Amino acid sequence: MLSSLEVFSSSFDSADILGGTAGSVIVGRLGKADPSLRILIIESGKDNFNDETLSTPGFFTQSFAPGNKNIEFYVDSKPSKYLDGRQTIVPVGHVLGGGTSVNVMQYTRASASEYDDWNTEGWRFKDLKPLFKKVQSLDCGLTTM
Ligand SMILES: Cc1cc2nc3c(=O)[nH]c(=O)nc-3n(C[C@H](O)[C@H](O)[C@H](O)COP(=O)(O)OP(=O)(O)OC[C@H]3O[C@@H](n4cnc5c(N)ncnc54)[C@H](O)[C@@H]3O)c2cc1C
Repeated sequence: MLSSLEVFSSSFDSADILGGTAGSVIVGRLGKADPSLRILIIESGKDNFNDETLSTPGFFTQSFAPGNKNIEFYVDSKPSKYLDGRQTIVPVGHVLGGGTSVNVMQYTRASASEYDDWNTEGWRFKDLKPLFKKVQSLDCGLTTM
């Protein structure tokens, strides 16, 4: 009998553990680099395909409804004195696409000094700015002004 590892290694070239935001980017990049790759995605949440509550931005609040499993709430084990004795609650996506399936689609970036404060080679604002520009566009629907 084959072990699960043997089944995996005979069927797939690569495995992506977690089908969330970062995982999906990695899978997309791998697939683009070599379309013949067979890539296994291991995701504990459900498929997001054709789910209008996930593909329609205005419906994002439905994922917060009681009983909805698209968001998991991680509750800190200890109360915090900084929160007046309350515990931190962090919602995370628990569905294919991860946070991008349930998030609010807001985009912002920190001020230049915050990146520079990391004081890490390759991660200063001057290094990151070209990447920010790559993902940003401003389309106001105006052709002349
Ligand atoms: C409600 C909400 C609103 C947000 N709004 C915004 C916004 O407007 N703008 C913005 O920029 N960011 C927003 N974010 C944050 C952003 O979506 C996340 O920071 C980002 O998606 C995190 O990406 P990730 O790859 O680190 O993790 P995730 O996208 O969370 O991916 C992790 C994946 O792993 C899966 N997983 C977990 N455990 C297991 C396991 N044991 N086995 C298999 N699979 C597992 C999960 O189901 C999930 O799909 C929001 C997040 C939430 C939850």
